[in-house]
Amino acid sequence: MELFTYKIEIDGTVQGVGFRPFIYRLALDHNLHGTVLNGPGGVEITLNANEELLQTFLRAVQNELPPLACIDHIKTIQIPSKIFTDFQIISTEESGERTVRIPPDVSICKACEAELFDPSDRRYGYPFITCTHCGVRYSIIYDLPYDRKNTSMKFFKMCEACEKEYTDPLDRRYHAQPIGCWECGPSLSLWDKNEELGVRNEELLELASQLLLEGKILAVKGVGGYHLMCDATNEAAVAKLRERKRRPAKPFAVMVRDISRAKELAHINTQEEKLLRSKERPIVLLNAQYSVFNPEIAPHISRIGLFLPYTPLHLLLLQKLNRPLVATSANITDEPICTNKESLYKLKGVYDYVLDHDRDIVNGCDDSVVMVVNEQQVILRRARGYAPASIKLPYTLEKKVLALGANQKSTVAIGFDNEAILSPHIGDLDSIGSVEYFKENIQNLERIYNFKAEVLKHDKHPNYESTKVAKELALRQAQGPSIRQAQGPVTELVEVQHHYAHILAVMAEKQLSGKVLGVAFDGTGYGDDANLWGGEFLICDYRGYERVAHLNYFKLIGGAKAIKEPKRVALSLLFDLYGEEVLNLKNPTTESFSTVELKSYLTAWKKGLNAPLSSSAGRLFDAVASLLGICQTMSFEGESGMMLEALYDAGIDGHYAFGYEDVKIDILPIIKEILLEEDTSVAVSKFFHTLVEIILAVQKQYDLPLVLSGGVFQNRILLGLVLDKIPDAIISNAIPPNDGGIALGQVIAK
Ligand code: ZN
Ligand code: ZN
Ligand code: FE
Repeated sequence: MELFTYKIEIDGTVQGVGFRPFIYRLALDHNLHGTVLNGPGGVEITLNANEELLQTFLRAVQNELPPLACIDHIKTIQIPSKIFTDFQIISTEESGERTVRIPPDVSICKACEAELFDPSDRRYGYPFITCTHCGVRYSIIYDLPYDRKNTSMKFFKMCEACEKEYTDPLDRRYHAQPIGCWECGPSLSLWDKNEELGVRNEELLELASQLLLEGKILAVKGVGGYHLMCDATNEAAVAKLRERKRRPAKPFAVMVRDISRAKELAHINTQEEKLLRSKERPIVLLNAQYSVFNPEIAPHISRIGLFLPYTPLHLLLLQKLNRPLVATSANITDEPICTNKESLYKLKGVYDYVLDHDRDIVNGCDDSVVMVVNEQQVILRRARGYAPASIKLPYTLEKKVLALGANQKSTVAIGFDNEAILSPHIGDLDSIGSVEYFKENIQNLERIYNFKAEVLKHDKHPNYESTKVAKELALRQAQGPSIRQAQGPVTELVEVQHHYAHILAVMAEKQLSGKVLGVAFDGTGYGDDANLWGGEFLICDYRGYERVAHLNYFKLIGGAKAIKEPKRVALSLLFDLYGEEVLNLKNPTTESFSTVELKSYLTAWKKGLNAPLSSSAGRLFDAVASLLGICQTMSFEGESGMMLEALYDAGIDGHYAFGYEDVKIDILPIIKEILLEEDTSVAVSKFFHTLVEIILAVQKQYDLPLVLSGGVFQNRILLGLVLDKIPDAIISNAIPPNDGGIALGQVIAK
């Protein structure tokens, strides 16, 4: 039989996922000789075969893929004959190539889970069991290529048994960088506030779960940071956590042992179940079944965030406890997630005990948050499991771009060629600590990807911390170290309008070309006229945009304060409608102020003192919540919208009138009618329908694809209603609609 020589190039997610050993095993099964190696764009296989053998082999490759692998393209060419006598894996070092993709951290696989609970396995009960197909990646990487010596596993010397698995291409743990066992790998320790308790192994987990059962709060080290955990069924424990964390109402995520427990707590459809069980294991926002649950978890809100255990440690804990656990990121309000004992120390007043381990977290990474609306996945926080992942861009960038995103829910992105890498969720840049962490994230990206930007892109807002960092970076690069000054490129600074970036992010993800009508319903973002935009209709392409309609401006009395206090926005709209008469009006908004306050705010409103103009749809939500007596002051961002969601009644029809003339959408008629409404649910439901009608009214004017983005579309009722009416409206599925998507949008602004 005559054999030819073929070269097969496979790209996609094929590095760091056990792909080469998979090919090796497959080649042995099929009796084929040749080599496999990691090349610059993917995996390269060279093979002696004939046409028939080749096709059988390629079919097997596609049918039997390792769980974390995903193939984008396979290219096969015949090359000059070269005869092999066996099949070999060529190591990354020998081939001289550098892997450019970092795999995300994923949950424990089925095979490892089975071993974890198998008393005859040598890793029985070992809280760090892992293999090529599962476990930590991004969070332990210092540098590429992804090899053990470039991860925080370098401090653990493999025992003989582990080494044997690590070097055997036929083993499930071949080149699984984080492997270890009871003898050689990371281990747990349990601490009270001051010292280690000196318990180990089985006894340690027994004690930890005992403490949780007693209502104690434990800081538990996970994959990308610590969680604060307590028994979710224990009202006193949850109340204590709220009090100590000074978090009166913001919902807590709950980790449950398995899908059947999840179904006891929430209504779950097939798609939601799939997400809960996925290897990314995000927090999934679901409709809660409150009849059986502790209202302290998410007061006044109809949804609950659930997730399933994703590490062997979580599995062991939940198996022992057999009840749901509150698992919220351990951080101080407005600060990034704690990733080491030193940063955790600041939370000493919050936790009672620390369940710690000795594998360092190199790159912090929060839990991801997703929801399903009208059968579409919406990512609200893109982090563990998803990040960092690359996004194919709709066109090739001329220069290397670093985009610094916005100020809330910040992320950063780098862009080169036709690819962008988006960092995981970093958080709000409201403290010195969070800005430091933000800079660290930039450095991590630059180091890992060996990247140096030629263009820095940032938001138009002059006071965003991200804008300041952009200017600082540009300055530093311009000044030099002297050698670089002579030869390095001067970094360009480009500002991108906030809502334009929101729409661009969707266009990038969906590879849209041509013009679209973008609806950016948002909190606030800095507009071209220096007003605070947020209810915007923009005709966009990659070169620019035109603002074709927007909610009419109203004043935010007290500036930034109005963002936390819905009553200030409502009061301003009342002044717009009734002027001084407001002082004599009786409604939930006016009643939440003293007469002195009302008078002084009237003056501020009249004179425009500390009362910037805004067209924000998010603030309109706030105003409605205040007028209906639902929420006057918010304890967390988005609270008013979530409370309105809970009051929506699908059985109620109708909407309110609004004005639409030239580019202005007059919202005052809506407010007027809401004041007359007697039933809160009716008012809330009609308000939602009104927003949909506003979108329809503008959409009718333009024959363009409709793109929805901005933080207000995190509201599942609003998004669902718009998608009901306009099923082909385009939304992001992989990028957050909130400010977490801004950096990606900035990358592709021309
Ligand atoms: Zn595994
Ligand atoms: Zn070992
Ligand atoms: Fe925004």
